[in-house]
Amino acid sequence: MTETVTVRVPAKVNVQLAVGGARPDGFHDLANVFLAVGLYDEVTVTAADELRVTCAGPDAAQVPLDRTNLAARAAVELARRYGIDPAVHLHIDKDIPVAGGMAGGSADGAGALLACDALWGTNASRDELLGICAELGSDVPFSLVGGAALGTGRGEQLRALEVGGTFHWVFAMAERGLSTPAVFREFDRMNHGLRVPEPVASQDLLDALAKGDAGALARTVSNDLQPAALSLFPALADTLAAGRAAGALAALVSGSGPTTAFLAPDAGSAKTIAGALLASGTCRSARVTQSPAPGATVL
Ligand code: ATP
Repeated sequence: MTETVTVRVPAKVNVQLAVGGARPDGFHDLANVFLAVGLYDEVTVTAADELRVTCAGPDAAQVPLDRTNLAARAAVELARRYGIDPAVHLHIDKDIPVAGGMAGGSADGAGALLACDALWGTNASRDELLGICAELGSDVPFSLVGGAALGTGRGEQLRALEVGGTFHWVFAMAERGLSTPAVFREFDRMNHGLRVPEPVASQDLLDALAKGDAGALARTVSNDLQPAALSLFPALADTLAAGRAAGALAALVSGSGPTTAFLAPDAGSAKTIAGALLASGTCRSARVTQSPAPGATVL
């Protein structure tokens, strides 16, 4: 029997995040174009006496190690469905910034699910795994599938999208995190009394992705949460300006922030932009990477 399974899971950037008005249940309808990027967490699951979570990496201290951890919740839910005792050690090697708007927690949930499925030999169908992911959170199904996808509903109903080339990105990590619910509350406050349009995916943006055309993608990226993130974290405007001045084709807040994303024309420019961002003193770190990246993968 397999005793240890490691799964690698990517972070994401939202190249479009269109947000509708608050629904009666408090959620928002979204049109969410996800692109998986090459920053990864690794989740390793090993049989143990009882459920235990550990985490390593620069942001590890901010990761909850109890049963609220999305990796633990994924293991518990799969075990419940198959009548298994979820006695495993889940170790997370964390490279995705925590509370950064890059779906790091969601990545760990999807990774733990796939890893436990392999360790226990449950062989859950893809649809069942996706169903569990959707229960865990709106961004979790995308972490499982990777690539590029359009998410509708709360973001969890996914349609895979074609990507015709490689996009080069720089991500600037901020000094502190931003809570996703707080950013949605600020969105609601700023839009109070206004008519918020139905969220719809931009066809021009989908075409730019399909062609692999970075210039066209830069002209069409959008994030309706950006004004709310900037309102809660005004210094992010300086990071965005520093990246634009260094040659980024587009600069935007990633998801609910505070990580900022910079689309570069090529790999060389991405390095230059990362250097300029660090030198500007407006971020904690800057990482160069590419997209699309594959979804959760057993190593
Ligand atoms: P998203 O982009 O999906 O809105 P995020 O990247 O902004 O998410 P996460 O890193 O997923 O934020 O973490 C949000 C919060 O979730 C953390 O502050 C933490 O309390 C909790 N959390 C639960 N499980 C995890 C996990 N495995 N890794 C990181 N945070 C987790």
